[in-house]
Amino acid sequence: MAKEAKLKCLRCGYEYTSPVSDNTELEERTCPRCSSNSVRQIREEKKGED
Ligand SMILES: [Zn+2]
Repeated sequence: MAKEAKLKCLRCGYEYTSPVSDNTELEERTCPRCSSNSVRQIREEKKGED
């Protein structure tokens, strides 16, 4: 099963989830709403990371 990452655009504030893969950290994330690449992953289900 693929995990899902919660992402938030820092530009427009849009929050969404996206499936993550092993190399997702290397992928460039782009906001589906404003096409900004200022998207951060929100880690709220796990703690002790980042
Ligand atoms: Zn955005």
